[in-house]
Amino acid sequence: MASPGIFEEAHVSAQLSTLSRIPTTWGDEVRELARQANAVILAHNYQVPEIQDIAHHTGDSLALSRIAAASDADVIVFCGVHFMAETAKILAPERTVLIPDANAGCSLADSITADQLRDWKSEHPDAVVVSYVNTTAAVKALTDICCTSSNAVEVVESIPADREVLFLPDQFLGAHVRRVTGRKNLHIWMGECHVHAGINGDELAARAAANPDAELFVHPECGCATSALYLAGEGLVPAERVKILSTGGMLDAARRTTGGTVLVATEIGMLHQLRQASPSVDFQPVNAQASCRYMKMITPEKLLRCLRERRDEVLVDPETAAAARTAVQRMIEIGQPGGAE
Ligand code: SF4
Repeated sequence: MASPGIFEEAHVSAQLSTLSRIPTTWGDEVRELARQANAVILAHNYQVPEIQDIAHHTGDSLALSRIAAASDADVIVFCGVHFMAETAKILAPERTVLIPDANAGCSLADSITADQLRDWKSEHPDAVVVSYVNTTAAVKALTDICCTSSNAVEVVESIPADREVLFLPDQFLGAHVRRVTGRKNLHIWMGECHVHAGINGDELAARAAANPDAELFVHPECGCATSALYLAGEGLVPAERVKILSTGGMLDAARRTTGGTVLVATEIGMLHQLRQASPSVDFQPVNAQASCRYMKMITPEKLLRCLRERRDEVLVDPETAAAARTAVQRMIEIGQPGGAE
């Protein structure tokens, strides 16, 4: 029989263990609530640094959705915008998916509705519909193949040359794909992201001229992607210095860069990850005002509320989710989907 001393020691040890779990800071409470709920916290690269740092995984929207699908967590807390949380729900339909603020939308995803796509399809009944992942579940459900910025060219090249293609919703990514493929029967929806469209070619040219040795990392949704290629074509910036990259691709490139200055043309939240990936490099935004107000609707306070109150839950009706899943899975099978935004 065990001596009373052993019970006392066990009791004290249990108390200490409980005490050690009493959260003392915001971060402690977030992690403890996540542990209790068996939740995984996912943060997009454009989230504020506190949220990127507390998350179990930080990355681009596609990488995070794949982590969501592979995870054995009961609850997925998606710190990003609504279409991203929907994509996680499409790929992990049996899990509870929460977003700290369901009003965190996306101007690019909102630039085409399911009704508008139905009308566009009726004008081109034989066309293949290719949608960038920045779309709602309802739009994905009307899509033949989704794409990321990494495999958009390969997705379009996989479609027989005589078939018309409807490419949506981003006009800049569409222009990039048309330029690379030379495809004339590619129709482009004229949508745009207000943040990326606000990073213009004049700013890029001025920053490139002021930093003649700097590399340029450019997201293809940027209004300046065309300008970046033009600058390279004119020899104003050596072509090897211009890299058109998804956010995941930027991180890979950052890890291979060992010094100097890199000008970054995308949402400024990306700088936090890049600077952590390669501290010896001076990463500078092309436009320091390029901040997505939707991404920044996810605050540390709302993340805590989300875990305490289990809100806001993201739901996608099963029929829409099944149709959308087919389009997303085709995307994953083609080329190197790499990362999305
Ligand atoms: S940066 Fe643009 S594309 Fe990305 S979530 Fe914000 S509005 Fe949407």
